[in-house]
Amino acid sequence: MPTIFEKIIAGEVPAAVLYRDERVIAFLNINPMAPVHVLIVPNKLIPTVNDICNEDESLIGHMVIVARDIAKQQGIAENGYRLIINCNAHGGQEVYHLHMHLIGGRALGPMIQRVK
Ligand code: 5GP
Repeated sequence: MPTIFEKIIAGEVPAAVLYRDERVIAFLNINPMAPVHVLIVPNKLIPTVNDICNEDESLIGHMVIVARDIAKQQGIAENGYRLIINCNAHGGQEVYHLHMHLIGGRALGPMIQRVK
């Protein structure tokens, strides 16, 4: 079964696309956690961080470069933002097609809740 992100990449499901090239697509999160919440997704299916190959090194670097440029375009570069990649159940991953969250536009607070 294709994931929702594969359907967005194929143009079968609509999304607010901010950027795309031959390697990645970036679109607004349908359920934003902050004023800016963009997902940067490789066009090729990599289910999780665990599935990244050494040959994907440049692709992963490209995702960060695209995130950097979108942060600038969105006007959040100077104040700052957070890049997140969730992996598997404990990481809270919901969609099993690798993606990087670019989140900003407000102070985000601590990275994770401290639990005793
Ligand atoms: P994960 O928890 O896997 O790191 O994040 C998946 C993200 O994908 C969630 O934040 C969720 O809001 C977003 N998402 C799920 N379905 C869709 C969709 O159909 N369109 C868009 N734009 N985002 C989606």
